[in-house]
Amino acid sequence: MTADVSIRNATKVFGAFRALDDVSLEIEAGEFIVLLGPSGCGKTTLLSILGGFIEPSAGTIAIGGRDMTHVEPAKRPTTTMFQDYALFPHMKLIDNVGFGLRMRGMGKTERNDKALAMLDLVGLKASAAKKPHELSGGQRQRVALARALAVDPDVLLLDEPLGALDLKLRRQMQDELKAIQKRVGTTFIHVTHDQEEAMAIADRIVVMNHGRIEDVGAPSDIYMRPRSLFSAGFMGEANFLPGRVTAIASEHAQVETALGSTAIPITAFTAGSPEVNSKVTLCIRPEHFRSTGEEGTAVSLGRARITDSAFFGAHHRCHLNPESGPDIVITAHLPQTAHPKPGDMLDLAVKADTIIALTEA
Ligand code: ATP
Repeated sequence: MTADVSIRNATKVFGAFRALDDVSLEIEAGEFIVLLGPSGCGKTTLLSILGGFIEPSAGTIAIGGRDMTHVEPAKRPTTTMFQDYALFPHMKLIDNVGFGLRMRGMGKTERNDKALAMLDLVGLKASAAKKPHELSGGQRQRVALARALAVDPDVLLLDEPLGALDLKLRRQMQDELKAIQKRVGTTFIHVTHDQEEAMAIADRIVVMNHGRIEDVGAPSDIYMRPRSLFSAGFMGEANFLPGRVTAIASEHAQVETALGSTAIPITAFTAGSPEVNSKVTLCIRPEHFRSTGEEGTAVSLGRARITDSAFFGAHHRCHLNPESGPDIVITAHLPQTAHPKPGDMLDLAVKADTIIALTEA
């Protein structure tokens, strides 16, 4: 089974501190949602409110169309999977996975069949008779997932479940988690502060900061068209050029930054329309810089001097000082085939459709 989730104006106050501040979010049944944000932004608080471990100070939670705001955790159609998998060390895997079913009074044969099917789902059927200490960290994590899914939750809540794994294993588990979610179709709501993890697994990412939602969208949406400066900076690297709108024509706004005056397409403004004199910040991802003359409609940013360069395999990562703003440091990724050297001068340009322009609220 799977269910939609509706969070309306959820607020949580601890003393004078607002851990969650008027958060509203609609989640479709079967979606893989990732709550992404820095430590302390309120992700775990929101997840705990969904699981019923914390009551909101204000607002409502509905799951599958039913109001759950004051329903205790055990009576919700949710299961929470924490970072410490809390497997029972003395029990075989099959009994660990079947534990929740036993608590619900399911008979042994049916329970074992279900547990084996779940172990099969995570690729550990052959290890059913093993004990947790005989497994690797990644395998234990899979058993915890099988156990969480065995009770058929409508919504699975995952609190940094991959946080304890080393980087390589974490990447592998992300792929597996995504594949398993697609197979079972359960709504997954997953908390992480790792932007790459969010991009690897999410249907939609919810970017949070200071208890509020900054941005919601598919990974490519948030990366290419972030709706706030925080979101732009948290979802990968970006160069930020503060400026001011000096004129507006039908399809372009003239924006003056330290690098001069540039015509920016109106479509580049992802949140709020430009007005003459409004403050604006241009965000440019390092990989979107081009040398003038390359394909695509390029917006020229003038000449710049390379101060240092490092080869990263897929690209050269360079720092540059523009001639028109020598105090500004630009980070640009130049093609693998380029041979950038410190001291080289470059005509810096950006493809028009990759610029992100954000007006100040
Ligand atoms: P992390 O990634 O570090 O777990 P998070 O985004 O999940 O961070 P939360 O755990 O939701 O953040 O906490 C949000 C804020 O609320 C933090 O500043 C935290 O100190 C505060 N907070 C959480 N629980 C309580 C509590 N029971 N009493 C007081 N303050 C709390």
